[in-house]
Amino acid sequence: MKLKVLGCYGGNIPGHGMTSLLLNDTLALDAGWVSEALSLKEQVRVKDILISHSHLDHTCTLPFLIDNNFSAPGFSLRIYAIPEVVASMRNHLFNNHTWPDFTCLPNDLTPVLKLVEIQPEEPFVINGLTIRAVKVSHIVPTTGFIVEDKKVSLGFSSDTGPTERFWEVVNGVKNLKVVITETSFPNELQDLANVSGHLTPATLDMELKKLKKDVPVYLYGGKPKHLDTIKRQVKALKRKRLQLLVQGKTYNF
Ligand SMILES: [Zn+2]
Repeated sequence: MKLKVLGCYGGNIPGHGMTSLLLNDTLALDAGWVSEALSLKEQVRVKDILISHSHLDHTCTLPFLIDNNFSAPGFSLRIYAIPEVVASMRNHLFNNHTWPDFTCLPNDLTPVLKLVEIQPEEPFVINGLTIRAVKVSHIVPTTGFIVEDKKVSLGFSSDTGPTERFWEVVNGVKNLKVVITETSFPNELQDLANVSGHLTPATLDMELKKLKKDVPVYLYGGKPKHLDTIKRQVKALKRKRLQLLVQGKTYNF
């Protein structure tokens, strides 16, 4: 499974603060930085997008991805999310005010955009990848995703504070090769992390005790102003297989 990091955390780099990962060049996990990170040619190849939750740092390039490619021959996009997240995108993003409702364009019969409702923990298949959404603990309805092919599996928590079910499901996944989770704030801002449904290095350390498989864990989500502190505090945890994702890097699992 090939994973390219389109956007992962803050810093003085393009994509700061945005979240988006690309699997096998065609399936995006969240869309905080898709149209900005990819060439037009690469964007056309993205046919399916999993959206974990409605926050802009995970959705904000959806409008431009569609707009950039609207007239490209054969372009269409399917966006998958749990019903609460689909409703939020319909009501607040593709509502003909913030952006056109592309689920009716160019016409109702052959729209370029389909919003597909998925149910938590019910597997579905996209291009040979089996996917499950798992609810996590953020301030709006949010899911992580488990993505499996025949050889390897990946767990992506998306934005979350301390949570339970995600780790239970991940522990039962066959061929788990990597877990990607977040650490948004430094330990000094634990109160803010708690009220906003995010992790600090301290709560990350407790979360990782719930992970029963010895696999690499990659982090995203560090807020730009606190990235250096977060890096230092993550390093101080002295967990060998724990590291931050690298913006723009491609990983093969
Ligand atoms: Zn969020």
